[in-house]
Amino acid sequence: MHKATEFRLEAHPLIPEALERLEELANDLFYSWDHGVRRLFARIDLRLWQKVEHNPKLFLRRVAQDRLDEASEDRAFLSEYRQVLSSYDAYLEAGPGPEVTEKLDPETALVAYFCAEFGFHESFPIYSGGLGILAGDHCKAASDLALPFVAVGLLYQQGYFIQSIDPLGQQVARYQSHSSDELPITPVEKDGEVLKVSVPFPGRDIVARVWEARIGHIRLYLLDSHTEENNAEDQELTLQLYGGDESTRIGQEMLLGIGGTRVLEALGLKPTVWHINEGHAAFQILERCRQTMAAGLTFDAALEAVAGATLFTTHTPVAAGHDIFPRDLVQHAMGRYLEESGLDFGKIFSLGDKDDGVTFNMTSLGLRGSRFHNGVSRIHGGVASLMEGDIWPQVPPEENPIGYITNGVHVPTFLAPEWSSLFDIQASTWKSELRNPDFWEFIDEIPDYHYWSVHKALKQQMGEYIVRRLKRQHKRNGTGHSVTQRMTRPLVSTEKDTLVIGFARRFATYKRATLIFSDLDRLQRILTDPDRPVVLVFAGKAHPRDTPGQQLIKVIHDLSMHPSLMGHLILLEDYDQAMARRLLSGVDVWLNTPEYPKEASGTSGEKAAVNGALNLSVLDGWWGEGYNGKNGWAITPRDTGLDPEFRNQEEARDLIDLLEFEVVPLYYERDSQGYSRGWVKRSKASMKTITPQFNSQRMVMDYVTNYYQTASIQGARLMAGGGRLATELADWKAKVREAWSGVELNVAGCIECRCPHDGAVELRVEALLNGLSADDVRVECLVSPECTGTHKTPGPASFFLERESEADGRTVFATQVQPSYPGLQTLRLRMYPYHEALTHPLEMGAMLWV
Ligand SMILES: *Cc1c(COP(=O)(O)O)cnc(C)c1O
Repeated sequence: MHKATEFRLEAHPLIPEALERLEELANDLFYSWDHGVRRLFARIDLRLWQKVEHNPKLFLRRVAQDRLDEASEDRAFLSEYRQVLSSYDAYLEAGPGPEVTEKLDPETALVAYFCAEFGFHESFPIYSGGLGILAGDHCKAASDLALPFVAVGLLYQQGYFIQSIDPLGQQVARYQSHSSDELPITPVEKDGEVLKVSVPFPGRDIVARVWEARIGHIRLYLLDSHTEENNAEDQELTLQLYGGDESTRIGQEMLLGIGGTRVLEALGLKPTVWHINEGHAAFQILERCRQTMAAGLTFDAALEAVAGATLFTTHTPVAAGHDIFPRDLVQHAMGRYLEESGLDFGKIFSLGDKDDGVTFNMTSLGLRGSRFHNGVSRIHGGVASLMEGDIWPQVPPEENPIGYITNGVHVPTFLAPEWSSLFDIQASTWKSELRNPDFWEFIDEIPDYHYWSVHKALKQQMGEYIVRRLKRQHKRNGTGHSVTQRMTRPLVSTEKDTLVIGFARRFATYKRATLIFSDLDRLQRILTDPDRPVVLVFAGKAHPRDTPGQQLIKVIHDLSMHPSLMGHLILLEDYDQAMARRLLSGVDVWLNTPEYPKEASGTSGEKAAVNGALNLSVLDGWWGEGYNGKNGWAITPRDTGLDPEFRNQEEARDLIDLLEFEVVPLYYERDSQGYSRGWVKRSKASMKTITPQFNSQRMVMDYVTNYYQTASIQGARLMAGGGRLATELADWKAKVREAWSGVELNVAGCIECRCPHDGAVELRVEALLNGLSADDVRVECLVSPECTGTHKTPGPASFFLERESEADGRTVFATQVQPSYPGLQTLRLRMYPYHEALTHPLEMGAMLWV
C-alpha cells in the first residue's frame, strides 16, 4: 500500500493587541529567571507550555487563537500581565549602582565576555554542563548589576545531545535541530542587512551570520555558520557543541575567537576589558593583536597592550577539559589567517606551546595572552598555579599571578518560586541583599514548621516529576508496569517522608558517581531499612566519546534494576536545566564525591543549598570554602599520593559512615510535628550561610573589583599615546630576555646569623646584571618564621634592597633588616626584572635566588 507523504503545517496565531508585548517577553531571557513571565505563558495554556518544554517562542507560535483571545479579555489575566510588564520595565529602567560605577564608568568601560557555551534555560540548549550554566549565570548577574557588558558565543543548531538510556543501560545520544525562530534570538542587522563576518580558513573564508540574545540589560552575540555563502560542510561547523573531531573544534574556536572579535568591531563596540572564559575562546587574543598592529604597533607591543586588558579564567584541572591541538593542525587551519594578518606562525605557536614543541595548548595561549588569570575556587586557584607554573618558570607556583574567584549561582534562576514567595513576605528586599550575609540571618526567623512545609511541598512536586519521567522512560524501554510501580514506591511514600539524596551532573569519571556503591551490602542495608528508608536519585549525561563515563551510567542503571535496591536507587535520563531546578529544590541531601582536587568549583551544590538541601560532599571546589562544620557534611579527601584504590575506599567509607551515623539518624529524628528540628536547624544554617556567599552577583562583583577595573585601567595605560608604554614594555622585556641567562646574584661578604631582638642585620648582595641596569631589577629579602614555601604570599616581611654601588660590572644592593619574629626565622634573597608598566611584578616568570 502506498503511504501518503505527510506535510506539517503550523497555524500561527495573531497576538491580540492587548497582549502584544508577550513577544517581547518571549525574546528576553529575563524569562529564564522571572517566574512571573513564565507563569503568564503557563496560565494561557498549561499543557502546551509543558509540551513545548517551557519555550516561550515556540509557545507563541503554536498556541490556539482562542486561548489568546480569551486571555486578552480575562481581567485577572490582564492585571497579572500588566504587573509582570511593569516589573520588567522597572528592571530595565534601573541603572548600575555606585559600587559598579565607581569601578567601571558605564560611558567608557565595556567588558566583553567570550565563552563556547551558555546555559540560560532549557529552551535554549547551547550548553553541556557546569561551564555553560556558569557563563549564563555570569551574564544574568551582569544584567542584574547593569554592568557595561557584552557576551560572545556560538549558535549551535543542534546544541548538545538529548540523552536516553536504553533497557541495557546504554546511553543513546540524539541530536535535534532547532530552527532559529524557536530560540530567544533575533538576527543582528547593520545598515539594513543581516550582519555577517568572515574568517579566513584554508582555501576559503567561512562566513558567520550574527544573532543577538537579550538577557535583560545585556546582549549576547552568537555566530552561526549555517548561511548560504558557505559550502555544506562549513555550514555544519557550528552544528553541535563539542561535536565533530579536533579539526571541527579548532574551526569552531577560530570562529568564536577571531569571528567573535570581528563582530564586536563591526558593531562599533570597543571593549576595555576582555574576559576569556576557558581556553576555547583564546584565539581572540590573536585577532586583537592583528587589530592593534594595524594601529602601527609591533606584534610584541600589541601583545602587551592586548594582554594588559585581558582576563583569562581557567575552569578545570582535568586534562580532557583543555584543548590541545597538534602543531600540524594549527599550521593548516590557521595558516591562511596568520598569513593574511601578517602574524608569524612560529611566534604564535610559541604562545600555545606548553612543553613539547609539537602541541598547541589553548590554555597556555590564554595565559600568555592575558595579564590577569584566575581559577574558580581557592583550592582550584592553588592547583591551577601549580599546573600552569611553567608559564612563569622561575617563580614559585604559590607566587605566580594566578588568583581565584569562587563560582556562584544566579539565585533568582535556581531558587524555587515557593521559596522566593516566602522571602518576599519575610524579607521583601532580599533580591538586592544577595551580597550581605548579615541580612540573611532572617532565615532563622522563619518558623520551623513553615520552613519545612515549603521544603515538603517542593519535595512532593519533585516526587511527582520523577514518577512522570520514570514512567515515560521505562514505558519506552518496555519495563513491566509492576516494576515501574515498585521503582517509585519508597520515593512517594507519604507515610515515611523518605530521605531523598540527589546526585546529578555530567558523568565525567573524576566525579566518581559510583563511589557510594563501594560497599554495596552496607549501602543496601542503609537504603532499605524499613523504618528509615533512603532513596538515591541519579541523572547526568556522559560525553558521547567518553566511554568510561558511559560505563558509569550502565553500572548505576544495572544496580537500579536489581531487586535488592529496587526503588531505592533511581536513574533519570536527559539531565538538563529544567530537571536540575526540580531535583535541586526537592532533595533533602545533595551528594558530590569528586576526586580531589579535580572539581574546580562545582556549582550544583550551591543551587541545592540555596533551596535548603544539605550538601554531603568531598571538601573540594567551592565546598572547601562553603563548609563550616554546621551547614552540611564533609568528606575529607585523602592524600593524593596514595594508591587511588585505597583512597577511594577510605573516602567511600567516610561517606557511608556519615550516612549511617549522622545523616539518616538526624533526618529521622522526628518530633511530634513530624519533622526533625535538628535537620531544619542545619538546613537553615546552610541556606543562610551559602546563599549570600556563593551567588553570581557576589562573583561578578568580585570580578569587577579584582579584575575588570584594573584591567580596564591597565589596558588604557598601555595603549595611551599610540601604545607608547606597550612598546616600551615590549622592548624592555626583549632586552631582559636577552640578558637574563647571563645575570647572576651572590651574597656580598657574609650575613650575620645572630642578632639581638632589637638589633638589625646588614644584608648585602652583588649582582652581575649583564647589561641591564639596577633600575631594571628588584632585589628583595623575604622573611618567614620557617621556610615553608606553601603560602601564596611569601611571608609578612619583604625588604627591597637599595642600590649601593657599582664596581667592576657588579652592582651591590644592601639594606638593614630587623628580626621580624622572635627566635628562628628564615631569610631568602632574590632578584627579578622589574618595570613599572608591568601588570604583575612577576609576570615575566624570571627570578634568581641567592
Ligand atoms: C549547575 C548545573 C551543572 C553543574 O553541576 P556540577 O555539579 O557543578 O558539575 C550541570 N548541569 C546543569 C544542568 C546544571 O544546572
